[in-house]
Amino acid sequence: MADIMMAAIDRGEAGERQVFHTGVSTVGQGGDDYLCGHCGRRMVHAMDLTRIEVPMVYECGGCGGYNVLPES
Ligand SMILES: [Zn+2]
Repeated sequence: MADIMMAAIDRGEAGERQVFHTGVSTVGQGGDDYLCGHCGRRMVHAMDLTRIEVPMVYECGGCGGYNVLPES
């Protein structure tokens, strides 16, 4: 379990990728926590987003900013 700061992108950079609306809080079954790269809000709790194989953009439920997984 780690806190992972996501990489902030502009809405125009999302392209054709699917947008995952994290809403108030998204809680998984285990894994890492992901923080919004724009406002620092904890968007996703206990999920392993690296297992999602399709390119996704994560929308913060707090500031509405778009984020992607940081390069690993
Ligand atoms: Zn945010």
